[in-house]
Amino acid sequence: MNAVKAGIEYVLVLSVLGATGYFLYTKAVPLLTPPCSTSVEYSIGSIDPRYGLSTSTLVSYLKEAEAPWNKAAGKTVATYMETGSLKVNLVYSEQQAATSLGKNIDADQKVYVAAKASLESLRRAFEQQKNAYEAAVASFNAASEAYSAEVAKWNARGGAPKEIFQQLENQKRSLEARQASLARDAADINSLVTKINQGVTALNAAAKKINAKVSTYNSAVGDDFDQGDYVSDAQGKRINVFEFTKAADLKRVLEHELGHAIGLGHVENPASIMYSYNVGSGLALTEEDVAELKAVCKIKS
Ligand SMILES: [Zn+2]
Repeated sequence: MNAVKAGIEYVLVLSVLGATGYFLYTKAVPLLTPPCSTSVEYSIGSIDPRYGLSTSTLVSYLKEAEAPWNKAAGKTVATYMETGSLKVNLVYSEQQAATSLGKNIDADQKVYVAAKASLESLRRAFEQQKNAYEAAVASFNAASEAYSAEVAKWNARGGAPKEIFQQLENQKRSLEARQASLARDAADINSLVTKINQGVTALNAAAKKINAKVSTYNSAVGDDFDQGDYVSDAQGKRINVFEFTKAADLKRVLEHELGHAIGLGHVENPASIMYSYNVGSGLALTEEDVAELKAVCKIKS
């Protein structure tokens, strides 16, 4: 009988990183005019083509981002002007590349998880077939031993009568047929094992690739990274956005950086637009955001 060999070994992989983005607040040089005395006029500087975002789309995002500030201030504190001196730049940076890589890793992991699940189901099929095969082998071996004992008994007596001899011959042919059938089962099981092992090899190779990407990603971004900043220096005023994963995040970053451009600092509520970390959702201002706006712009409530 052929032995059934299973060489199944899974590599256990991966914990993926949920990187938390935070806003980098580059301290602005003192403004020449008091905050909110004039509206911040922004325009589009440069958009790295790798963002795949048109100027008009970015402008529409910025208009969504400025709206809550203008509404809360009861006047225009930030507005788009084609010639606006505050330039908004979407800069493709290592962080951005890391974000793309992060998405890439997520996609790879989904494929990996699906491939692993399908291998697990093949492995369960293998276990069932192997158990059935081993039970059939045990039953065959018992029948085969009984047959041999019977043959030995009659041989010891100098041979069996014709009728018994015929019965034993029939048993022998039946046993041979069972043996051939078991050999076919073993071949089927072994080809299943080969298939599983090839799958495991492919899966492990995929895991190795994903792990390499994760390591690149981790060294590129660390635990957290800057999504954008507002800079006001001798070169002028600009908002630089370094990375975003989806439009909703980008709008929040823009709203936050516009807040800095208006003159606002950070506030302590994690849900706030002006919190240091971009961990909230949506564009609605919190009480703290509004209080900061009113304090900086000297708006009496
Ligand atoms: Zn900030």
